[in-house]
Amino acid sequence: MKIGVPKEIKNHEYRVGMTPAAVHELCGHGHHVYIEADAGSAIGFGDEDYRKAGARILDDGPAVFAASDLIVKVKEPQPDERALLTPGHTLFTYLHLAPDQEQTDDLVKSGATCIAYETVTDGHGRLPLLAPMSEVAGRMSIQAGAHCLEKSMGGRGVLLGGVPGVSPARVTVIGGGVVGQNAVAMAIGLGAQVTVLDRNMDVLRNLDHLYGNRISTLFSTAATLEEAVTGSDLVIGGVLIPGASAPKLVTRDMISRMPEGSVIVDVAIDQGGCTETSRATTHDAPTYVVEGVVHYCVANMPGGVARTSTLALNNVTLPFIAALANKGPEQAMRDDHHLRNGLNVYQGRVTFREVAEATGYEF
Ligand code: NAD
Repeated sequence: MKIGVPKEIKNHEYRVGMTPAAVHELCGHGHHVYIEADAGSAIGFGDEDYRKAGARILDDGPAVFAASDLIVKVKEPQPDERALLTPGHTLFTYLHLAPDQEQTDDLVKSGATCIAYETVTDGHGRLPLLAPMSEVAGRMSIQAGAHCLEKSMGGRGVLLGGVPGVSPARVTVIGGGVVGQNAVAMAIGLGAQVTVLDRNMDVLRNLDHLYGNRISTLFSTAATLEEAVTGSDLVIGGVLIPGASAPKLVTRDMISRMPEGSVIVDVAIDQGGCTETSRATTHDAPTYVVEGVVHYCVANMPGGVARTSTLALNNVTLPFIAALANKGPEQAMRDDHHLRNGLNVYQGRVTFREVAEATGYEF
């Protein structure tokens, strides 16, 4: 199989579809890998590393698309990339098609086979190709929050762990899923006083089992949320209702009653955010202030630690890339219904129900 990895062209995207180690593995299986020049150089994977791993370096994106059958990326293809897709291509990347009519139309028109990382499943009903990015964002959320609490960032000048003789900061984590668990682990590591809220009792039991009385767990209701949020220095928003926009659990009124200079990191911003005052921000301008509270609402947090994120993503995508390349996409999907669940567009048809419903295509 001819596998192509173009350089990501979305604004400030430094991740890359395959690491040199992944390339080495695929070349070892007898596949040809084409990497666009400089595809990984921003995160320390130079062209020479890829060459040593067995890849051929091509000058630009169009050359990579023309040489390859299987295209492996990170972000959804941009309009210029979509114009290069043909019925002979299989595209394997994050797509997030439901809210993106234009991209869906272009992928349908291209005739390509388009498999979305975010809808590939596993035997436990989870989304294994999404999980590593939630792990990264959950861990980063505490780092970002700690930084925003500093005076120079507009914060109230509080150190998460306190010091001997001074109380630690109070951190509330809303949602104890992948983001929440990783945020809790980091916050405890830094010595903060942590409360976590969820509506799933099994999630709370599990956290209680892990951390005992080092954290407080609360069943999430309007009343418990209000009490926890208004008394916090740092709030992490990590809720998800799969397939739906995030519920606006934290109201403007609650925010106005948080201490001046406290911080909200709304990780759920990619689903619209879980506070009434959240709006998406970028790594260039990550924060803004509403009601005296610093809001950090970066929609692609893992992009900020692009090297770690690329390595984490490759750990989970490599077995699927290998299956697609070794067996061919059709056979690989016939053999593995979890990979088949990733198929969103196939030969001019939308093949994923929620995407079809959202974009007006027949399913
Ligand atoms: P998850 O499904 O693992 O966890 C979500 C948790 O929210 C679940 O435990 C669920 O029970 C809980 N929940 C649902 N309703 C709730 C409520 N009313 N109160 C409290 N808890 C509630 O999801 P995840 O992987 O942790 O992702 C969380 C969010 O973070 C998602 O929106 C995801 O897309 C987003 N995310 C954002 C970035 C970013 O860069 N901003 C990166 C990765 C993930």
